[in-house]
Amino acid sequence: MDRVEGLGEYRSKRDFSVTREPEGGEARVSGRTYVVQEHHARRLHYDFRLERDGVLKSWAVPKGVPETLGEKRLAIEVEDHPLEYASFEGSIPEGEYGAGTVSIWDRGTYETIAWGPDTIEIIIKGERVSGRYVLTRFRKAGEKEWLLFRAKEKTG
Ligand code: MN
Repeated sequence: MDRVEGLGEYRSKRDFSVTREPEGGEARVSGRTYVVQEHHARRLHYDFRLERDGVLKSWAVPKGVPETLGEKRLAIEVEDHPLEYASFEGSIPEGEYGAGTVSIWDRGTYETIAWGPDTIEIIIKGERVSGRYVLTRFRKAGEKEWLLFRAKEKTG
């Protein structure tokens, strides 16, 4: 099986002879992994990742996942990461992309309600976070800024 093509940008930013981050292997049957990694890089942020099409779709959320209804947080779309990244914790060496420390803030699974180019609606079942969440691209199609917020559970 070919290596996952969506990881080209991820690999081009990293020197795997220096960092212990995973290089990413082969595609496998799609699962439903959800993970948030606390990343103390030059600026603290939280990397929000959802497994989709054999990779982890990823957003950097400076203020972390909102747990209060209606609170909207900026989420910047970043390059796809390999599935193995979901269990990565440790330090990224100085001089490498994202240098700093990574720890898992939350992990679990998610269910997709809707996955469109500009709006993603999911149910998160994490150890810390659970419930219905929405990611929506704000500004124009194709730009990398999204908003992440918790939405009301559907009733009835
Ligand atoms: Mn990061």
